[in-house]
Amino acid sequence: MQRVFVLSPERTPLSPCRPARARWLLTHQKAAVFRRYPFTIILKHAPLDAVVPVLRVKIDPGSTATGMAVVNDGTGEVVWAAELAHRGRHVKANLDQRRSCRRSRRQRHTGYRPPRFDNRTRPTGWLPPSLVSRIQNVVTWVERVRRCAPIAAISFELVRFDMQLIEQPDITGIAYQKGTLAGWEVREYLLLKWEYRCAYCQKQATRWEVDHITPRGRGGSNRVKNLALACHECNQEKGDQTAAEYGHPDGQAEAGKPLKDAAAVNSTRWALYERLKQMGVPIETGTGGRTKCNRTTRGIPKTHWLDAACAGASTPARLRWQEVVPLLITAQGWQRRQMCLVDSYGFPRTKAKGASRVFGFKTGDIVKAIVPSGKPQGTHTGKVAIKASGNFTITTRQRAVPDVPYRYCRRLHRADGYAYQKGASALLPHP
Ligand SMILES: [Zn+2]
Repeated sequence: MQRVFVLSPERTPLSPCRPARARWLLTHQKAAVFRRYPFTIILKHAPLDAVVPVLRVKIDPGSTATGMAVVNDGTGEVVWAAELAHRGRHVKANLDQRRSCRRSRRQRHTGYRPPRFDNRTRPTGWLPPSLVSRIQNVVTWVERVRRCAPIAAISFELVRFDMQLIEQPDITGIAYQKGTLAGWEVREYLLLKWEYRCAYCQKQATRWEVDHITPRGRGGSNRVKNLALACHECNQEKGDQTAAEYGHPDGQAEAGKPLKDAAAVNSTRWALYERLKQMGVPIETGTGGRTKCNRTTRGIPKTHWLDAACAGASTPARLRWQEVVPLLITAQGWQRRQMCLVDSYGFPRTKAKGASRVFGFKTGDIVKAIVPSGKPQGTHTGKVAIKASGNFTITTRQRAVPDVPYRYCRRLHRADGYAYQKGASALLPHP
């Protein structure tokens, strides 16, 4: 079971407890809920003999979603897990819209605006705002978890493959087909290099094989220069022929070229690494090849949070993950900067935006309302949308409940720019 984070009365993170224990502490008034997401309780009296384990937060950064797992290296238990969905696409769409608004304004006869060009400079290390948003999401969540759990180390999948390891000439041919670490690193390299396509039929297969361009039996080496990605059918059909004999002389030339830098160096991951380093916690970096190797040898399915749990060399030999239900987090952003909505001509369509806080509530707060009578009678828990009148709309899991008076609402979780959901995450397709 996913554990519950526990804080001492001084807010120092203690050993996370089981949900049943947390329930007992809460019902016996020995603790109070400190935070809903991630679920954290705070003890009312300091425990006499607190043995605090050493936990590790592990991260698998992705472009649309990032997996996170808190793992106890000693016991191999996954203590807590989450999947963080980013909003990079929304950031880009918003900026595109703003750009088109500004561009159309220049075309209209609304006073002279001289064209501006080539007068912008970008600082070194600049990243597009959509990627910055992703990095900040991850940093925010690592910091939140660190406030609730005794985190002593970070594991982080920094690169896709280990170049030094795959350049070793002593990797035997068997390593590529069997699941050794070097074999997985080579496969990761080849997947990027051949852009997930079979070198011979260009098909995007799901089961890859590593093909020797000049076969081993005819003097071909095990170096990556002699390796290509092939689907099972092509690999069988090619058999003992070289790529040129099989009718693909260009394959030989392609294999000799080095991998394009852009594919090998992921600037977002490096920028995130730099940010995580500033936290002052020891960081272990892993490769995508090692994550896959760890996951496959332990027979673990592929999801973002399980990839995170398998990142790095520190992964325990036996990982206890079966009972964990990850928290699904979606980055939502805070608010719109736009003052009012406009029609297609750019004229105001609605009145100006109202106050963002009404009677202490903000749109996006998670509230519980117990309404004794009237149309919205009943108990409703969900996200609130505020109204200046004080009659709010609460969106529960089933429906939207309108006209709930503010005086019946009690805030459970302050709006923090994220939406939460509990449940199993989708399995990811291979690779
Ligand atoms: Zn093929």
